[in-house]
Amino acid sequence: MQHKQIKSSASNRSLFFERIAQTSGFPLALEITDAQNEYLIDKNGRKILDLICGISVSALGHNHPKVVQAVQEQAGKYMHTMVYGEFVLAPQVKLAEELTDLLPEGLDAVYYGSSGSEVIEGALKLAVKATGRRKIIAASRAYHGSTTGAMSLMSDQKRVAPFAPHVNHVRHIEYNNPQDLDRIDTDTAAVIMETIQAESGVKAADIDYMRALRKKCDETGALLIFDEIQAGMCRTGRFFAFEHFGIQPDILVLSKAFGGGMPLGALVSSQELLHVFTANPILGHITTFGGHPVSCAAGLASLRIMRDERLWDRAARLSACLDPLSAHNKVKEFRKFGFWAAVDLGSMDLVLKVVEKALKKGMLVDWFLFNDHSLRLCPPLIIGEDVLRDAIDGLLEILDELH
Ligand code: PMP
Repeated sequence: MQHKQIKSSASNRSLFFERIAQTSGFPLALEITDAQNEYLIDKNGRKILDLICGISVSALGHNHPKVVQAVQEQAGKYMHTMVYGEFVLAPQVKLAEELTDLLPEGLDAVYYGSSGSEVIEGALKLAVKATGRRKIIAASRAYHGSTTGAMSLMSDQKRVAPFAPHVNHVRHIEYNNPQDLDRIDTDTAAVIMETIQAESGVKAADIDYMRALRKKCDETGALLIFDEIQAGMCRTGRFFAFEHFGIQPDILVLSKAFGGGMPLGALVSSQELLHVFTANPILGHITTFGGHPVSCAAGLASLRIMRDERLWDRAARLSACLDPLSAHNKVKEFRKFGFWAAVDLGSMDLVLKVVEKALKKGMLVDWFLFNDHSLRLCPPLIIGEDVLRDAIDGLLEILDELH
């Protein structure tokens, strides 16, 4: 085999385009060399205010000293030891204990994965095996991940069809439409839903709808899976978004901010239900890196900060600072849930202009996968209030300049 000639002069930027697989033809391509609190810092030392948290991950900002310390300490003790589920590892069990202490009865045991998609797959398998049924019901315009099973839950056929074959037995219902709940029946293994739809642009369901959904699942024996991969971990003004609706799922799926900046996912359910992975066959759902000790140490440090500093209260308080955007005449619709908003400008063209102008002013915003005419705002929960107010003023100025 002939090795490629090493071009020692190649810049990181050119290597990014030559040697890294691209996911679009127009990556932001910022060269980040450092990150602190609410800021990303590029190779020229420019501070960029992170108003999207790496898509709902960096809720505690960047390099929170307690999370960094937990990562360093754990890395100094041990990193990978054995595939998940064999050894008693302190970071895993402590995190499971402290997470489930925050959750109601019935959500008291954890299966870890290393990404959101991975635990979504686990939740689907769990529901199918536990109920002996096949049909999965998902909501229109939901995003649950890009692996084959998780992708099959997407209603947007433009995104799914090119990758067929995908998982059969998925049916879609219209999000927040009570009439569609009649399609949940005794053949349904599970209904999977985001408590607040993220990638369709921060869309919340009505309380009555969510309660009717819970009731229908109880009547038919379908398991209710809530995907709180974006909505969980204090973002909405409660620790978990389902708390707003006065109901609880049979299976809760977490990731993103749950790992404190490290790759981690969890599906949380009852020990009885999770037992289906244990036998017939044994090792029914396994993972090499799920619940990685360093990720769990970061997740535990992060969970403690969120809990002890009541960051859900802070999210609820900071939420009001986003409101001036709602009154701007360029804004067609303003959707907000907690410290999370979609600013609908009516066209992708305008959104791209704002993204570009914001970056020039040192602020990072973007759009949503299924809603490219809305700006995404999902700032770190630790952002300084003055910094936030200045950022909103900056965005308002940009909107003023748009034509
Ligand atoms: N569910 C939701 C609501 C998400 O937003 C995402 C990621 N954007 C996923 C699942 C999949 O997570 P991952 O990218 O870690 O596989």
